[in-house]
Amino acid sequence: MSSYKKIYIKTDRNGTKYFNVTDVCPRCGGRGDYIQGINYGVCFLCYGKGTREYTLKEYTPEYEAKLEARRKARKDKRNAEAAKYAEEHADEIVKVNREIVERRYAEFGCGKDGIGYALIGKTYPIKEQIKKNGGRWVFGAWVCPVVIEGDGIEAHEISLKGHIGAGSQMWLDDFDLYAAIHG
Ligand SMILES: [Zn+2]
Repeated sequence: MSSYKKIYIKTDRNGTKYFNVTDVCPRCGGRGDYIQGINYGVCFLCYGKGTREYTLKEYTPEYEAKLEARRKARKDKRNAEAAKYAEEHADEIVKVNREIVERRYAEFGCGKDGIGYALIGKTYPIKEQIKKNGGRWVFGAWVCPVVIEGDGIEAHEISLKGHIGAGSQMWLDDFDLYAAIHG
């Protein structure tokens, strides 16, 4: 049973031919209903008709090329506008990127310069002080933007500066950082 019907309607001044197409509903396959788990009902794409109707346009190769050129012109315009925006807002973008980078540094217990100190040893007595100073628990150790002194505490400087990409994303080689933290 084929429900496919294509009826010519008109040709416009660009040579585009219009057809009215009737086709099997792609959702219900022509049944007009649907079963989904325990749900059963009328197909909401064809409202039970089992078919769908739409207008098909067939362009001449010349007009298709013209449309393609228009699409490209629109795309070029959008790209040019985006480039212009980026240029005009360069300072702002740099500022936002810096904020993102600083936030990433902070997540790893490092300061705005990307430097932090892994505090190894008996950190329990100074835990609150570490937290108050922006310290974070990273790969099994406390990392803090400043050195917190304490009995039996060893501090390893770590730097995240080399881990930031052009888009402010952080590349992290866990092994490198783990090694830096734990000395
Ligand atoms: Zn349907």
